[in-house]
Amino acid sequence: MTSLLWFCNDIRLHDNEALHIATEEAEKLLPVYIFDPRQFAKTDEIGFPKTGPFRLRFLIDSLRDLKSNLQSKGSDLIILTGKPEELIPELCRKHDIGLVSYHEEATHEETQVEDALDDALEKIGVDVDSAWGATLYHLDDLPMEVEKLPDVFTAFRKKAEKYSEVRELFDTPAKLPPLPESHPESEGFPDSDFFGLEPDSPSEHSVLPFAGGETAALKRLETYFWDQDLLKTYKETRNGMLGADYSSKFSAWLANGTISPRYIYFQVKRYEKERKKNNSTYWLIFELIWRDYFRFIALKHGRNLFYSTGIKGKKYEWSTDNDAFRKWANAETGIPMIDANMRELNDSGFMSNRGRQNVASFLAKCLNIDWRWGAEYFESLLVDYDVCSNWGNWAYNSGVGNDPRDRYFNIVGQGKRYDANGDYIRHWLPELKDVPGEYIHEPHKMSVEQQRKAGIEIGNDYPFPMINLEQAYREIEKRGD
Ligand SMILES: Cc1cc2nc3c(=O)[nH]c(=O)nc-3n(C[C@H](O)[C@H](O)[C@H](O)COP(=O)(O)OP(=O)(O)OC[C@H]3O[C@@H](n4cnc5c(N)ncnc54)[C@H](O)[C@@H]3O)c2cc1C
Repeated sequence: MTSLLWFCNDIRLHDNEALHIATEEAEKLLPVYIFDPRQFAKTDEIGFPKTGPFRLRFLIDSLRDLKSNLQSKGSDLIILTGKPEELIPELCRKHDIGLVSYHEEATHEETQVEDALDDALEKIGVDVDSAWGATLYHLDDLPMEVEKLPDVFTAFRKKAEKYSEVRELFDTPAKLPPLPESHPESEGFPDSDFFGLEPDSPSEHSVLPFAGGETAALKRLETYFWDQDLLKTYKETRNGMLGADYSSKFSAWLANGTISPRYIYFQVKRYEKERKKNNSTYWLIFELIWRDYFRFIALKHGRNLFYSTGIKGKKYEWSTDNDAFRKWANAETGIPMIDANMRELNDSGFMSNRGRQNVASFLAKCLNIDWRWGAEYFESLLVDYDVCSNWGNWAYNSGVGNDPRDRYFNIVGQGKRYDANGDYIRHWLPELKDVPGEYIHEPHKMSVEQQRKAGIEIGNDYPFPMINLEQAYREIEKRGD
């Protein structure tokens, strides 16, 4: 029998259940990756490319690595372009394929494609066996129906930790069945006309160069856990913003499935046995449970997650001030904590969790701009964009998601707390290099003479043309906790 394995957001050979299913009884295997034009179209609200240059480059690297890993095991990767629900049934007919296997997604657009594919395959009598593989806890092992998932994280986590177990890993196969004699030619990567842009690498200031692929993912874990022993202090450092070491940076590899969350989990368990078990080792797992939670929440709430009213169905008067939005997006608000983070995003495709919370809160709660614009902007630029984590976190920070307390961030206070000396601000906004530490988060408080000495000028065309800066600061002071 010949099986077709459809790779999607599971671009790896380790702990890959779909691969396991496809090879269990197959003599021939056809591994396929499909560039779906819908994933390279424009976002709905603000018309940005859904897949921006950093993630595109990361994806291409990841597929190159997958192809080479498949080849080293006697197989190969066939890269095609089109709609999976049309292409795959056609391949099955042409190449006498008996079984199709893939990993399931959780969100509306993706599950629609899967449903259409399953229907088309059923019509032509081809078996489909799909797997759930993107989370730490398997969907079927949750201690509640997904419809009954608590809307508060802690309630979910406590139950999951008590009643669910993380499943064992699927082995990485030593050898794979060969391609069938009759198979399509790989079309290779589409050109920049198809993508609407050129792939790009993060700037040299980035926390990491973010090399795509399973090989780089496993290496990053090796470095972070075993070579540099950074896991043991993760809880103390995780709120940092500057450099490679303050957090794991696993997110980009997790997002396209070049690393499995279960693999990370069992490496943490090994680390706890061989090196140290403490709050930090637990906390990395705790964060992976957050990631799970947003995926299950997306499954529970379906399309509501993408409406302005969010999963809470809450109506706010959202502003559509395009000018203010552009200033936020272009790192031109005049508020260093916001602009440094947005410049990092624009130049590298990454931003720390601390930064993401602050810029999201500022956009939705100080500027009152439709939070979905921010979510789409992140979607376009993030190297680690994950539909559930992104939209779930944006909704959470905008008062329409899972935050029971609907909090605001005091942006200036956060800057002083998490970047006390202003090193992060100066890293991304070198034009502020001569601003003294005491003013780095509030340059508007400097006298004209102090501004002159620091080589900046507030209020005119200082490096950042202002969104009424004074008003923005007043908002922050009024609202901040
Ligand atoms: C507005 C906003 C948008 C976000 N968009 C995304 C996104 O598109 N993709 C994405 O992976 N994460 C997103 N996050 C979550 C989080 O910011 C990133 O996962 C984290 O910064 C990635 O860095 P890291 O891998 O070093 O994290 P670490 O601190 O090392 O955490 C380990 C892993 O835990 C998971 N994790 C940590 N925090 C969160 C969280 N708040 N929500 C969900 N999972 C979490 C991630 O998979 C992460 O890789 C977003 C957060 C906010 C506030």
